Amino acid sequence: MKTLTPQIVSEKFYRKLSGGKIKCLLCRHYCELKEGQTGVCGVNKNESGQLVNLVYGKVAALNIDPIEKKPLYHFLPGTTALSLGTVGCNMQCSFCQNWQISQEKTILQKDFVSPKQIVDLALKYKAKSIAYTYNEPTIFYPYARDIALEAKTHGIKNVFVTNGIESIEVVKDMPGIIDAANVDFKAYDEAYYRRELKAPFTVRETLRLMKQVGLWVEVTTLIIPGINDAPEHLKKIAGFIARNLGTETPWHLSAFHPDYKMQDRSATSVTTLEQAYDIAVKAGLKFVYVGNVGLRKNITYCPHCHQALIERVGYQILSNKITDGKCPYCQTKIPGIWN
Ligand code: SF4
Repeated sequence: MKTLTPQIVSEKFYRKLSGGKIKCLLCRHYCELKEGQTGVCGVNKNESGQLVNLVYGKVAALNIDPIEKKPLYHFLPGTTALSLGTVGCNMQCSFCQNWQISQEKTILQKDFVSPKQIVDLALKYKAKSIAYTYNEPTIFYPYARDIALEAKTHGIKNVFVTNGIESIEVVKDMPGIIDAANVDFKAYDEAYYRRELKAPFTVRETLRLMKQVGLWVEVTTLIIPGINDAPEHLKKIAGFIARNLGTETPWHLSAFHPDYKMQDRSATSVTTLEQAYDIAVKAGLKFVYVGNVGLRKNITYCPHCHQALIERVGYQILSNKITDGKCPYCQTKIPGIWN
């Protein structure tokens, strides 16, 4: 362990403006920062005309998680991901399940954890991937990127669990560095993003761009009663996924539970989740999963012969019959990253 020095971000991810100001290019807020100013996320700062990522090397949460917990279901099933996050976020969701770190404003002077130390941990625990998660990883992309590049040299893959307001610059930088992403599509409602999440509604563009640059993409929607559970609303999200990302894109429908500041409504009912599932299937989506509701089985079926290929309970894999990325019964290729 060595003493932390704040890490200066590559000029690839900020632009110098006049009068000592800079523009951060890490997310779609595109904050313009005066000398000494920190952006919306609270962790990227203009110091002497340079962008400094204040959480570089400062890990606030670190765990070994099943990859199914991200959730990624078509990505190395049954393996573990070394999962890490920092403090800070570029959204302010009142239902955040990780609000203790995402909304934390104090950056503790903790020990510096180098990218190599993170990768050594992944190797030690035989994790097949490293997940940048818990808070929004694009705000610590300079750190994630360095870890990911080191991880690649050991054959370890890298995944983003994200709210979808990465900058265009970050997404275009990802190919060859980040392999997959699970992207939250929180609501099909620009005003809701602006008013409640304090963020731009850019998730559609981000998803399209991630697909274009070749990332494996899965989408998650936390279904919140009274916010996004109306059938018409869910149809819009399902239709967007089917038309723009392809019907082979997995969509995870996740149950809401009261958390953080959102205590004024009940958990999502199983009936609502089942209706959402039916809407997704009617929209043509071939891989729809329901999460956050106890020990419900989630099965990946072959879209051609309809045989059950992967059976899961919670985060556990009960069986996985996919062979060389194909259905063993009819040889249909199953989309995903399998090894
Ligand atoms: S990461 Fe986003 S919120 Fe943070 S300073 Fe950069 S543009 Fe602003």
